Amino acid sequence: MQFHLLFAFVAALVSSLCFSIHLGVDALLPNAPRILLLTAHPDDECFFFAPTILALQRDFSQPEVYSLCLSTGNADGLGDKRRAELDHSLDILGIDSDKRWVVDHPLLQDNITMRWEASVIADVLTPFVVDNNITMILTFDTRGISSHPNHCSLPFGASLLSRTLSSTRSRTENAPRVLGLLTVPVVPKYLGIFSVPLARARIILSWLMPRIFSPSTAILTSGFGEYLIGARALREHDSQMKWFRYLYMLFSRYMWVNEWVEIDPATLSNQW
Ligand SMILES: [Zn+2]
Repeated sequence: MQFHLLFAFVAALVSSLCFSIHLGVDALLPNAPRILLLTAHPDDECFFFAPTILALQRDFSQPEVYSLCLSTGNADGLGDKRRAELDHSLDILGIDSDKRWVVDHPLLQDNITMRWEASVIADVLTPFVVDNNITMILTFDTRGISSHPNHCSLPFGASLLSRTLSSTRSRTENAPRVLGLLTVPVVPKYLGIFSVPLARARIILSWLMPRIFSPSTAILTSGFGEYLIGARALREHDSQMKWFRYLYMLFSRYMWVNEWVEIDPATLSNQW
């Protein structure tokens, strides 16, 4: 009897992984969505954000998705190579070549000990956001998934930009919303494929008992198909594929699940 229950559980788990399931995608897709993915380094897009990029690309509303990477990842002198790797990765993830940019700014260099100033990020971001009428910026939360200071800087810069635009624009023009990818503790961060049933249980409980299991802004979970696309994109970053990156591919929650929280630009402190 117990064997049958176990078999049924495994069968249900495996079959459910043939599909991607999401909660709150509507929150990510307001009217005429024009969404900017803001990253710090080439490879962030697939190490952390692939479930979201792929979900957005496949949504019936077909939002415009843009990618802006604020450095070439030149910490080891491989900036040109990493820029090309990012291009290949974004090809696989389906972001159009005219909707992706890489910035190489002297004050925004890949450096694991350096915080990027919010004012510099906001200045660099402004023309991309304004010229493309971006309605939403998706980026890291203030803990940056890996605590990399470059990652952690991004929500502060995006919030400063949003605050500045909201104070200068007319009432009919909204400043872009800012959402942060939720950083989870170490153990759930490395549950790999088991993150999927846990996240989906949370989605179902949010549907059944929204007051008790209050949902985040959005939870997006990949199926096998999306996972394999994300893994292909990740392998395009040849210069970064050390042995532990393969372990990451196997065990990271972020290859399967992205959970988003709304950042309030008005209250996010400039200090961290
Ligand atoms: Zn990074």
